[in-house]
Amino acid sequence: MTKPPGKLLPLVAALLCGAVLAQAAQPSDSPVTASSPAVRTVAAGPLSGSPIAAKPTHQRGPRRQGQSPHTKPAADDWNLTKHGKVLYLTFDDGPHAGWTPQVLQILRRHHAQATFFVLGAEAAKRPDLVEQTRAAGHHIGNHTWDHPMLTHIPAAKMRQEIFSGVKSKCFRPPFRDTNAAVEAAAKANHQRQVLWDVDTNDWKKPGAASIEHAILAGAYPGAIVLMHDGGGNRAQTIAALERALTKLQRQGYKFRALPC
Ligand SMILES: [Zn+2]
Repeated sequence: MTKPPGKLLPLVAALLCGAVLAQAAQPSDSPVTASSPAVRTVAAGPLSGSPIAAKPTHQRGPRRQGQSPHTKPAADDWNLTKHGKVLYLTFDDGPHAGWTPQVLQILRRHHAQATFFVLGAEAAKRPDLVEQTRAAGHHIGNHTWDHPMLTHIPAAKMRQEIFSGVKSKCFRPPFRDTNAAVEAAAKANHQRQVLWDVDTNDWKKPGAASIEHAILAGAYPGAIVLMHDGGGNRAQTIAALERALTKLQRQGYKFRALPC
């Protein structure tokens, strides 16, 4: 999942970008979509001002030494397919005051752990949600400060977006838009680039059944699954998650956080 981008990547990134732009142009079906991180990225974000000054100091807050003990042995074990029937659920673009707590509740109910790739700008608004997520045994990954397409902005700004994100061992580029320079910047920030194996396309709001099907059909031992708890109305994701976890548990799957 960390191999260099293939030839299709620029095309995929362009398509994703176009799709998000199209989505941004559509009327919002929920008050929260008006503050979609992805949408704001298209417009001028906080970084257009004084990014360094805007960097919140609390992002250098408590280290994750209080993680659940049972997640520690695998701290640097990226042989994800060697742990049996384990799925690695990931949620991007949060934290969000409305959706993230609902995701956390479902995960708790299913004794599932996951990884949340949060935006620095959103984490700065709700540091309590980030801490609540960590306290529940989940892991936090860096998804940049404000969700830009990193290969489409100047190198200095690209690095700034990565370095001003939350502290973590993992980094995920927005829109899967990455290249060698982006991966190198993440590495310089002591972060491993983490993509995904199963894309639920939940951000397109295709219906809960479609998202559920994507999770169930894509699941295999060690797979990393992409979903979103921010960036728009996630009611479909919430509904799909509950149903998918119930069925996957019956199949013997467990859900763990990535070693981030
Ligand atoms: Zn994202």
